[in-house]
Amino acid sequence: MPGDAVAVLDSTGHLLGSGLYNPRTGIACRLLARRDELVDADLIHRRLAGALQLRRTAGLAGDGYRLCWSEADGLPGLVVDRYGPVSVVQCQTLGMSRLGGWIAGALGRLFPGGSVYRADDATAARIEGFEPQRGWLAAAPSSDSEVIEITDGPCRLLVTLGAGHKTGLYLDQRENHALVARYAAGRRVLDAFAYHGAFACHALLGGAERALLVESSAEALAAARRNLEANGVAERAELRPANAFDALRQLEAAHERFGVVVLDPPPFTRSKEAVEAAARGYKEINIRGLRLLEPGGVLATFSCSHHVTPELFEGICRDAAGDAGVTTRLLAPLTQARDHPVLLNVPETRYLTGLLLQAV
Ligand code: SAH
Repeated sequence: MPGDAVAVLDSTGHLLGSGLYNPRTGIACRLLARRDELVDADLIHRRLAGALQLRRTAGLAGDGYRLCWSEADGLPGLVVDRYGPVSVVQCQTLGMSRLGGWIAGALGRLFPGGSVYRADDATAARIEGFEPQRGWLAAAPSSDSEVIEITDGPCRLLVTLGAGHKTGLYLDQRENHALVARYAAGRRVLDAFAYHGAFACHALLGGAERALLVESSAEALAAARRNLEANGVAERAELRPANAFDALRQLEAAHERFGVVVLDPPPFTRSKEAVEAAARGYKEINIRGLRLLEPGGVLATFSCSHHVTPELFEGICRDAAGDAGVTTRLLAPLTQARDHPVLLNVPETRYLTGLLLQAV
C-alpha cells in the first residue's frame, strides 16, 4: 500500500533493505532501513540520536539548528529543526507522515520536557498525497506560545511556528549570516530578498552603518521589522516592499552604492529543463549587485536551485562580473550550514551554493 514500508531488492533478488513506498511520485521508494534493520520506533530514535550527536560534536546544537536533514541523516522525507525547547517536525513524504507518533516519541526521549510542533509542507503533501498537519504534537508549553525567540550569536530572531517559509527560519544560511556580518562594520548594506532580515540584523549588530532591506512579501517584511526592533537596530534600517529585480535596477539608476550587497533569492528553477532561464535571472541580478558595490565592497550571492551546481553558478557570476565591468576577487565559496550535511552520492542534498565576492 502507498506509504508502507516495503522490502527493496536489487535486480538479482538480493535484499538491500526496507523503504517507504509511494508509487505516485517520481521517487517511488526511499530507502530507510538497511538489510539488518527493522523499520520501527527504535530505528527513528537511533537515527535522530545519531543526528543530534553529529550536531553536538560539530558545535552546532545551539538555540536554533537543523537536527535532521532527510536523506543526509538517514531519514528520507523528515526534517526536524530545533528552536529553543521546541522541535519542529516537517514530514515531506506520505510514508514519513504516518510515523509522527514514533518521531514525537524519539524526540521526547532525546529532549525530555521539550515540545514538538508539526509543520508539514503543503506542496510536498499535495505531491505525495497526504493531509499536511500543523500544530502541537506533544507537550504543548503551558503558555501555548507559537512565537519563540531564539539567540543566534549576538542576534535575536523571532520564529512563528507554522508560519512563513521552511519551518520558520532559513537555518541553512546561519553560518553565512555571521560570515557576511564580519565585512559589514561601518558600511551600508543591501539585503535583497531579505525574508525576516537575518542578514541585515547580523550586519547591523556587526557595526554596519545602515541597511536597506528589499522584500516582496509584506508579511515577511513585517517579521523583519520585528526582528530589527528586537535587536535594537531598527532605526538604522530601511524596509522597502518591492520586487528586487526592479529595486536593483532603480538603485543602479540612482547611482547608489553599498559596502555589502546580499542576493539571496528563492529558487529560480525547480526543474532541470528551466536551468537556462534561471541562469539568465541569476546573471541579471548579479550584474546589478556588482555594479552597486563601492570599491572594496563585498557581494554575498546565492542560488538555492537544486539544479544549479556550484560550477554553473560560478560561471554565471564570472560572466556577470565581465558584463558589469567589475574586477572581482573570490573571498570564499559559500554553501549551506553544516547542520544541512550533503550525501556525496545524493548530489541533490547540496542545494545551496554561493560566492563571497569583492570588487577590487
Ligand atoms: N535571506 C533570507 C532568506 C531569503 S528567502 C534569510 O537569510 O533568512 C527568499 C525571499 O525572497 C523570500 O522571503 C521571498 O518572499 C522573497 N522574494 C521572492 N521573490 C522576490 C522578488 N522578486 N523580489 C523581492 N523578494 C522576493
